[in-house]
Amino acid sequence: MSSPREVVIIGSGPAGYTAAIYAARSNLRPLLVDGMQPGGQLTITTDVENYPGYPEGVLGPKMMEDFRSQAERFGTEFVMGQVNEVDFSKRPFRLKTDFDELEAKAVIICTGASARLLGLDKEKEVMGRGLSACATCDGAFFPDKHLVVIGGGDSAMEEATFLTRYASKVTLVHRREGFRASSIMLDRAKANEKIEFLLNKAPVAYLTDAAGKLNGVRLVDKVSKEEQDFACDGLFLAIGHVPNSKVFREKIDLDEAGYVLVHDGTSTSVEGVFAAGDIADKRYRQAITAAGMGCMAAIDCERWLENQH
Ligand code: NAP
Repeated sequence: MSSPREVVIIGSGPAGYTAAIYAARSNLRPLLVDGMQPGGQLTITTDVENYPGYPEGVLGPKMMEDFRSQAERFGTEFVMGQVNEVDFSKRPFRLKTDFDELEAKAVIICTGASARLLGLDKEKEVMGRGLSACATCDGAFFPDKHLVVIGGGDSAMEEATFLTRYASKVTLVHRREGFRASSIMLDRAKANEKIEFLLNKAPVAYLTDAAGKLNGVRLVDKVSKEEQDFACDGLFLAIGHVPNSKVFREKIDLDEAGYVLVHDGTSTSVEGVFAAGDIADKRYRQAITAAGMGCMAAIDCERWLENQH
């Protein structure tokens, strides 16, 4: 194994790349481990229209390429693969990737979160072709359309309410009569004339037209067990996110949902390990907030390393 790196950054979304840009410009020669989906969640969206600096919008994958080139320009090194094991019990920290073993004086975790999907047939094919897991990203592509939102939590209420800005009608489909959503969010959705509720129904199949574009969803009634084909122009999943933190379980403090707990900016429960972006933020979950937090983590990390010397 070569000598310890100053800092290893795990994950390559807006948080990871921004942390790399700042760390590289501080001469920390960061090593960034790409992860399973290089570029992160933005690589599965289309146009990003809400990131400042791109007045005409930008394709998510193109934006991530730009972030990466900028990190590379200042000397970030990249390695492919996933981190499968970490030892944060002593310093330097040790990390095992698919291909390598690394040592690092400091680590910045930017592994993000993944939208929970239903796991039904054809899911991959219809993603971005009528199916979405992000109303903020894709809502504007459905002006005057009839949309379906699946879920009964705060995200579902928020997404359904947000989508009424564009859609002519939003049907919120939930698998039972009780809601996880807070009453304020639920009441707001209920008061919205464009939103109709369809309860005790669960999705069992994606329906598509001849070109393979989603044009409906098959629902099963949880009480009568009857199935119905429900036509719609777009389907939004709001059934929660899953933080990509499995490898850090019992290594650093996570909340009950698995998000990394941070304090004083981006510090975690282990000194020298920092976290940024969706892995530590279940509230905002935007590219711009993840990038901002990546910057914070690199600055926190640099100052911490400086104090060690
Ligand atoms: P959540 O609270 O876990 O709700 C997920 C919803 O999806 C539940 O209603 C669940 O149904 C449903 N669901 C899960 N798997 C499903 C499946 N396979 N098929 C059909 N339905 C399924 O997730 P969330 O709404 O993303 O919220 C996560 C956290 O973020 C919460 O703490 C929430 O308060 C917070 N949040 C806050 C705000 C805000 O305050 N502005 C906005 C968004 C999120 P069941 O209820 O039947 O399990």
